[in-house]
Amino acid sequence: MFGSVFSGGVIRKAVEKGLMEIRVHDLRDYTFDRHRQVDDRPYGGQEGMVFKAEPIFRAVEDIRESPETRVFLLSPQGRKLDQRLAEEIAGFSQVVLICGRYEGVDERVIETLVHEEISIGDYVITGGEPAAIVVVDAASRFIPGVVGKAESVAHDSFAAGRLDFPHYTRPRDFRGMKVPQVLFSGDHAKIERWRKKKALEKTLGKRPDLLDRELSPEENEILEEIRKERKEP
Ligand code: SAM
Repeated sequence: MFGSVFSGGVIRKAVEKGLMEIRVHDLRDYTFDRHRQVDDRPYGGQEGMVFKAEPIFRAVEDIRESPETRVFLLSPQGRKLDQRLAEEIAGFSQVVLICGRYEGVDERVIETLVHEEISIGDYVITGGEPAAIVVVDAASRFIPGVVGKAESVAHDSFAAGRLDFPHYTRPRDFRGMKVPQVLFSGDHAKIERWRKKKALEKTLGKRPDLLDRELSPEENEILEEIRKERKEP
């Protein structure tokens, strides 16, 4: 599951450049029994299986390079992943991401081994692996050099508390749908202003909650302009 995702695109390039290293570990390598059993039936009687504490503890103890290593568990009960958390994760020299399956992991893992649980949203998926892929991808964008040009992260949605502005590429006219004229004006200040306005328009329309923060005087001015155009009070 990880191989196909990490062996392509931006992440593969980042690994090749030595900007980051990804290691995938099999919990079965940390079992003692003949069947290499990583899960067992839950105490108290209920359906499903639970990941045993021991293989997870042994794996983390083996993988952890220093006391600063940060241990995360992917879980629908965790802190919801956002750009801020992705940036925080990118700041650690080593991160361990534990992926659950079935009913999840033995609670003692959460109580004593894990620093924080991370959720990718309020829904339940069958295993932590797709969630770990999302975390690795989102965090890697904050490692300097991973994303081609620094600006592409800077104007990404959420980076400055608003959504990204619209992007266009060739042709200028596609089935009668034309690229906004301002983008051909060559006037960089004007283009910049237009982009800011479009970003705020999108944010206001799709995610007004992002604007519940202290806005810059320019943002306030542009929002005023947008509201007037929409004839809002
Ligand atoms: N019984 C658990 C609960 O309701 O909290 C859900 C277990 S889920 C079926 C199996 C595994 O998928 C979890 O241990 C976790 O690693 C992963 N998982 C499921 N939903 C997730 C989410 N929204 N974010 C991150 N990981 C998730």
